Amino acid sequence: MTLFDSPAFEGHEGVHAFCDEAAGLKTIIAVHSTTLGPAAGGCRMWPYESAEAALTDALRLSRAMSFKNAMAGLELGGGKSVIIGDSRTQKTPALFQAFGRSVESLGGRYWTAEDVGVSPDDLMEARKETRFVAGLEGHAAASGDPSPVTAEGVFRGIRLCVERAYGQDLNGVTVALQGVGHVGGYLADKLHAAGAKLIVTDVNQTALREVAARTGATIVAPDAIFDVEAEVFAPCALGGAINVETLGRLKGRVVAGAANNQLATPEIGRALFDKGLLYAPDYVINGGGIINVAAEILGLEAGLAFDQAWVDAKLDRLALTLAEVLDRAAADGRPTHEIANEMARERIAAGRG
Ligand code: NAD
Repeated sequence: MTLFDSPAFEGHEGVHAFCDEAAGLKTIIAVHSTTLGPAAGGCRMWPYESAEAALTDALRLSRAMSFKNAMAGLELGGGKSVIIGDSRTQKTPALFQAFGRSVESLGGRYWTAEDVGVSPDDLMEARKETRFVAGLEGHAAASGDPSPVTAEGVFRGIRLCVERAYGQDLNGVTVALQGVGHVGGYLADKLHAAGAKLIVTDVNQTALREVAARTGATIVAPDAIFDVEAEVFAPCALGGAINVETLGRLKGRVVAGAANNQLATPEIGRALFDKGLLYAPDYVINGGGIINVAAEILGLEAGLAFDQAWVDAKLDRLALTLAEVLDRAAADGRPTHEIANEMARERIAAGRG
């Protein structure tokens, strides 16, 4: 299969590979769309087994960013970069400076930020070579940790899905929370404050104990989270939580959480729908984080400080967009993830007009 007929290529404007032997850099920057604005999406550092695996990941992630940014109502397109390497052993300032030069060479068509394996310190090195970097600290437009904003968006999304599926608020509803990291931790606090009962799991025992102490959550082993009696399953760990093995085990009617790529395959989204479950499309419900980053990009571009009111307004709008996805899915009798993809494509096409 060639690059152009790979299923992940779909509509990419540009795919850029850069190599800097002296700095040990091999990076791919995928720009899916700049229709709505400059492409924005984080940089992931991962020890990919092959350049093909890195390319597929970059393509998949950059298209997802186009859809996420469009659904969050941002004047941003979608892009993503991947650096091939082990973030525990192969990071150097020179590597991230070389990465910064790669970003700079695209002349602002792509803005980078944090993703798995890349920290604000790494981005500071990239910033020495390019201004097209968000997620930095210590400047007036800095957006800080996006996790609380992501958690607030996910909390509102769960509340909406519970209203739709069960006709009630969160008081007394049980939520099975997979992953109590940055987002999951904040989300647990919000759910607890709203009167929900929590069943939590994580592979990090310290994080688990802290969340349980704050919220009275029941702790279960990682694999047991799929079998508990809970109205809501909230994936907030890694991707692929909903797959052929786990779907049949879920007891509730709602799947809504922060994780990216929750559906192992598009087909599992259809199976989830056929089973009568309500799924909040991941890239819609978790758009709070990119809204926060977008505020930093806007601030840097305009020379203005971070604008919290702008973020709050976009987050309110995101909740309405999720409601629209659920409405259209109910009216058409179709899975929510298909409706969300359609709406994202419509928004990008409208921007092209
Ligand atoms: P995080 O790394 O802080 O938290 C993830 C947690 O999941 C960790 O505590 C980890 O120990 C746990 N975990 C890993 N494997 C597990 C397993 N098999 N079972 C149970 N727990 C497991 O990450 P985060 O920033 O909280 O993000 C969580 C998810 O949300 C990720 O998929 C991320 O891509 C997505 N997301 C995050 C943001 C954000 O603002 N941070 C925005 C959008 C999407």
